[in-house]
Amino acid sequence: MKRKIQFRRMVLGLTIAAVVAAAWGCNGEGAPSAPSATALGPSLQVPSEMQAGCRYAISHALKNDTDERWEPGILKVGVRWLSAETDDVVSSDRRQLSRPVEPGESLDIDDVIAAPDIPGAYRLVIGLVEEGVRWVPTDSKRDRADVTVVAAPAYMGPEKPAGQIRIIGLDGATWDVLLPWIEAGKLPNFFRVLREGSWGPLRSLPGSLSPVMWTSIATGYERDKHGIEGFQVRNGYGMRLVRSSDRKVPAIWNLASQYGLKTYIVNWQVTDPPEAINGVMVSRLRELGETGVYPLELTEELAAITGAVRLPPTAQEDSVQRWRRVLREDLEKLIAIERFLTSRGRPDLAGYYTHSTDEVQHRYWKYMEPDVFIDPLLRPSPDDVKEHGNAIFEVYQRIDDWIGESWSPEEEILVLVSDHGAQADPQPRVYLALNPLLAALGLAEVTESGEVITEASQAFNCTEDPWSFHLTICLNLVGREPNGIVPLEKATALSQNIAQRLTALRLTDHTALIKSAEPSADGTSVRVEAIRPSRLQFEDELQIQGRMARLRDYLIIHDISGQHSSFGILAIAGGPVVVGRIHNADLLDVAPTILYLLGQPVAEDMEGSPLTEIVEPRYLEEHPVYRTRSFDPLAVQDEASPVSGREDEAQRELKERLRSLGYIQ
Ligand SMILES: [Zn+2]
Repeated sequence: MKRKIQFRRMVLGLTIAAVVAAAWGCNGEGAPSAPSATALGPSLQVPSEMQAGCRYAISHALKNDTDERWEPGILKVGVRWLSAETDDVVSSDRRQLSRPVEPGESLDIDDVIAAPDIPGAYRLVIGLVEEGVRWVPTDSKRDRADVTVVAAPAYMGPEKPAGQIRIIGLDGATWDVLLPWIEAGKLPNFFRVLREGSWGPLRSLPGSLSPVMWTSIATGYERDKHGIEGFQVRNGYGMRLVRSSDRKVPAIWNLASQYGLKTYIVNWQVTDPPEAINGVMVSRLRELGETGVYPLELTEELAAITGAVRLPPTAQEDSVQRWRRVLREDLEKLIAIERFLTSRGRPDLAGYYTHSTDEVQHRYWKYMEPDVFIDPLLRPSPDDVKEHGNAIFEVYQRIDDWIGESWSPEEEILVLVSDHGAQADPQPRVYLALNPLLAALGLAEVTESGEVITEASQAFNCTEDPWSFHLTICLNLVGREPNGIVPLEKATALSQNIAQRLTALRLTDHTALIKSAEPSADGTSVRVEAIRPSRLQFEDELQIQGRMARLRDYLIIHDISGQHSSFGILAIAGGPVVVGRIHNADLLDVAPTILYLLGQPVAEDMEGSPLTEIVEPRYLEEHPVYRTRSFDPLAVQDEASPVSGREDEAQRELKERLRSLGYIQ
């Protein structure tokens, strides 16, 4: 049975968290008691004055006055801001229609909208849209309101934080997995966070690569502005892991430090090497090494703490058992560091990140939901289901205990956040190992792990997305590549030769392994499309250079059964946060929300907005959102330790792990 639990109604009284429908926003003006005085009709209730870039809860009944049935999927709810002067559309946003609406019926809309960034006179219009086709005529009077958007109040310097803030970053956590366990009473401390705070889905950004997403969460900017594009960056013939110094904008920890707030950041994505912050930064958990901690003096003490966390392997542990132990151990190390740091003094801002939640879902989903996995390559045995069916739950249960042991809403604002969700991945992941194939054809030399030996290779795999079946082979060109050996005058002939030899490769049943191979116009690379081999073909023989080889030797097969989905989680509780639901939030809203709660200004060029609708109206009235034009990019440049070009053991291990998850090739 496929799990599909999109925010269904929850038992255990969680519906008390129904949206607080009153309309309020960033500066407290037009707070709940003051709905729009200038709305043209009785229906659309919004404040008549809003602060630029701030978010406001809206409550509206959209009546179907037409004689057609409104169908979800075909029709969407459109929220448009028009200039009051010119009637031009300034911005436009879409929401899914939650259910079909019959003629004469009304649809209740409880949502959150963001006011335009530029002050002025606007008209807010809510209507139905058939994307790219038409706007469905709705009541022009009832479904619109005039709104004056005013500038943010002048920034007078940092304020006192709303409370101590602890972020627990749970990579890949999804309500689809969590809610059934919360409903069943199996995660009582997650339940407490939901009962005492605001929570909802958090929309991810395209790509859902963890380094990119967690940097967006920590900065409030998208990848093109923050500069982290993936797990690795190109470095000569290979790739190196991204570093904290690749980030181009300040993260919340830089800004908090700049304002003198004490900050602990542990194991967050892309914080290696650690940055000099006003507090402690631990870049990685497994091997702290010589450069994994800021300040350096704490290295030994922290290494002793993480080193003492050992879940001993059982005799004859297989890889499935091993990963389960390693993921638990990582989590225990994180919790041990949290305990140690908290005992040294509570910080104003803390961020603890775990990848265990994501990795356990990638590796163990098939044991949790075996019926979905029909392909024999992934189908688990009943014994394995019995042994590992609980692996994912076990990780969340430990986090639940951790929250229970360490959190009280009177003392701390707790933020649970994930970068994307997760779902079953019933399609086996099989890819072509292109460099070893080039080596077999005598065109390259590779190491045991499949990396090209540059001085001895005529061509190498230079595909941007290593998991595509559309691949690019680059010639090792003199003058272009650091160790180039192919002179330009020989390039065209060589690329044609490569294309011919690849397209000639046949499996036992005479299927071509490479569907097409085309030299580029300048002859210095070859675009290749490979077939996606079926399981039946794995043991096929391939004739290469007159020898017979097994296709399987040129395949990369990942034992992965969970994949990413587009909605993560956000739950915030404690301090001035109200009990309610979070609507229409995405990753980019997290950093501005944290900055607001820390009493710091939010930059106008940040791509998200503070979620002020989840803050008590009175608190908001006394603490408006302050804005600053932009952040000083220099705040990022501080590095606690110089980065050496060479890869250390910990980085090699991390690469190996990313490879086994299919994140890099
Ligand atoms: Zn993942």
